[in-house]
Amino acid sequence: MTHREKNLESRRQFLKMAVAMSATAALASIAGLVRAADMLHLTDSDPTAKALGYVEDASTTRNPLYKAGSTCANCQFYTGAADGYGPCQLFPGKAVNAKGWCSSYTQKKS
Ligand code: SF4
Repeated sequence: MTHREKNLESRRQFLKMAVAMSATAALASIAGLVRAADMLHLTDSDPTAKALGYVEDASTTRNPLYKAGSTCANCQFYTGAADGYGPCQLFPGKAVNAKGWCSSYTQKKS
């Protein structure tokens, strides 16, 4: 194999690898979206949720740590949309209600 042929071959291999990596990244992000939509909703009866005083509607809590206006939607551990359900770093694999609240609430940094 000549030097030029070797160069062409390694370029081909590099391009193949770049295409494969892009396809893998695209599939991973699609899988991430599907996972977020398919996650089970965290309920007040979940043992960890109970321990942290999680409620699906922040306005219903009687927890003395609760401050008016605090909801999952403005908590730093929440990564979902402002409405509906989304992931919380404290409850991996489950989606919390954007209107919910728990005693680990930490205001999102602006
Ligand atoms: S840590 Fe924050 S986002 Fe997670 S359940 Fe508690 S208040 Fe909601």
